[in-house]
Amino acid sequence: MDIRIGNGYDVHALAEGLPLWLGGIEIESPLGCIAHSDGDVAIHALCDALLGALALGDIGRHFPDTSDEFKGIDSKLLLARVMELVQAEGWSVGNADITIAMQRPKLAPYINQMRECLSSIMKIDVERVSVKATTTEKLGFVGRSEGCEVYAVALLVKEQ
Ligand code: MG
Repeated sequence: MDIRIGNGYDVHALAEGLPLWLGGIEIESPLGCIAHSDGDVAIHALCDALLGALALGDIGRHFPDTSDEFKGIDSKLLLARVMELVQAEGWSVGNADITIAMQRPKLAPYINQMRECLSSIMKIDVERVSVKATTTEKLGFVGRSEGCEVYAVALLVKEQ
């Protein structure tokens, strides 16, 4: 068995009156991500972790934010495309772990929905997908609700 690990990181600025999408789920929030896509910063970090595991570059290379094709795009479609690349090379996702840093709103009520959504796109058991949320104790740009920050790790597995 061959294994690969990848990490991903993404930040989006927040602004009032925009929808907030995280982990494929729309979150009730007065603040949403400023973005070329739907701004799902959690999916973006996860995509970068998956691409990173296979040294396939980053999400910006595959889906440029200068392209009209990706303007306002549902990030779930980006994850599905990344999974096509992963599967095309014979890999499957062993597990993924995502940490979302956001001061507010509270994300706990949405965590399991995000896990269900992401695991269904990656076609793996929900037990293999972890989503965690934290504040930064009001410190830094996250603490001032100026932005949302996400870290992701993914392990890929290939049977020999
Ligand atoms: Mg992004």
